Amino acid sequence: MKNVINATLSLSKEEMREYGYQIIDHIVAHFDTQEEKNPVAMASRKDMEALLMEEVPLEATNAQAVLNDVMEKIMPNSTIVSHPKSYSFVPGPSNYISTMADTLATGFNIFSGGWAASPAAAELEIITIGWLVEMFGFPTEKGGGLFTSGGSMANLTALVTARRVKCGDDFSKAVIYLSDQAHSSNIKAIRVLGFKKEQIRIIPTDIEFKMAVNKLKNAIAKDRLEGLHPFCIIASAGTTNTGTVDPLDTIADICKTEDMWMHVDGAYGGAAILGTHGKELLKGIEKADSLTVDPHKWFYQPYEMGCLIVKNHKWLSETFTEKPEYLRDVEGNESEINFYDHGIQLTRRFRALKFYMSVKTFGLNSFKAAVQYNLELAEKVEGILRKSAKWEVISPATLAVINFRYNPIGKNFSEKKLDALNQEISKQVIGSVEALLVTTVLQGQVVLRMCLINPRTTLQHVQETLDCCEKIAATL
Ligand SMILES: *Cc1c(COP(=O)(O)O)cnc(C)c1O
Repeated sequence: MKNVINATLSLSKEEMREYGYQIIDHIVAHFDTQEEKNPVAMASRKDMEALLMEEVPLEATNAQAVLNDVMEKIMPNSTIVSHPKSYSFVPGPSNYISTMADTLATGFNIFSGGWAASPAAAELEIITIGWLVEMFGFPTEKGGGLFTSGGSMANLTALVTARRVKCGDDFSKAVIYLSDQAHSSNIKAIRVLGFKKEQIRIIPTDIEFKMAVNKLKNAIAKDRLEGLHPFCIIASAGTTNTGTVDPLDTIADICKTEDMWMHVDGAYGGAAILGTHGKELLKGIEKADSLTVDPHKWFYQPYEMGCLIVKNHKWLSETFTEKPEYLRDVEGNESEINFYDHGIQLTRRFRALKFYMSVKTFGLNSFKAAVQYNLELAEKVEGILRKSAKWEVISPATLAVINFRYNPIGKNFSEKKLDALNQEISKQVIGSVEALLVTTVLQGQVVLRMCLINPRTTLQHVQETLDCCEKIAATL
């Protein structure tokens, strides 16, 4: 296409076919062969500049050459988050049906902002959100929500809504509470909302990493005495570090007594509701006013897909409805939801489609089996680690996350030495590019963390990675 101006930016039917089929072939090959590849991509800024840096191209380049270049230089320099040995940070197992659904949604470029632009897209979002509302035990009549780009955006949307409903326009005295294990996106959201440091209470966690309820109650009481307005508690349903679920029932009671908003961040762990003991594991989650779940994590969806559900969908429309003049003609009636009135984005991609097509194609029972498999795999890994003389479990298998460290019996290494040892094991495992296994810090200890939400990760994969760690440790 050199020196050709293509002012309509279009291809012939044959060109489109040939190009598209190649891309499908690449994607299928990726799904089919990723296990044979190494999951870790490591490159410095300098490496990437040398490989990719260029001025904006004014002239056309042959389409095939561009595609070949992308396949050669860009895809292999990206970590494979759906690889069975990607244990960090939160893997993205994804699935092929949803991948194709995203391709369709993008191909038709469906505007998922308002009813008028695509009634079917809006209806499908209402339906799939309805499935989630029911799954989590939220009120099916009044409950609602929307899909977002991810958990961060869902948390932000929730907190804007909480503040609007509980504080109205004056939030100068408002105070918000979250634990020291809450996900960083919550603090980011609080900052975006413009709260001052004095309006945020970070509540310590207990020995099991749960929000310490007594300390929470003390903080609220003290703030009341000072004339402040405690308005929202953010509880975690599956912290990213350890999978720990805060005492949701108790926090719900506090919220009720204190007339506070209960937001549950279940971005990581919410999907455990599909496990056989889901309701037990996440007891009290149905009492939340708002709940974040992240289908692009443990509902096996490709990026980007987060979700916020709320007890009363009117809270969202009351918070986010703005009517510019040019949208007047497209309002429709009240039951015909304009999702741009339920959140921050106006123009939105059609996220509901992938959720819909994958759940319908595989059946929810397949998703349940996958989640159950993940939960049990983590428990089996815990069993292996406990029986080994070399490993110590630091935080037991909880919602498919396990934290452990190399600490061989009889060696009596100092804490400092253990930290250095485990840090080095992680570094060398990643350096080998065979597995993505990173450390986290729990109660001051450097530990290794496995997040086992890939349904294609087997006990053998894990065993191979542990063997690899032991081999490295033997040389240290
Ligand atoms: C991942 C995560 C988030 C952020 O979600 P994104 O989709 O990455 O924006 C929020 N909370 C928890 C608990 C998470 O694990």
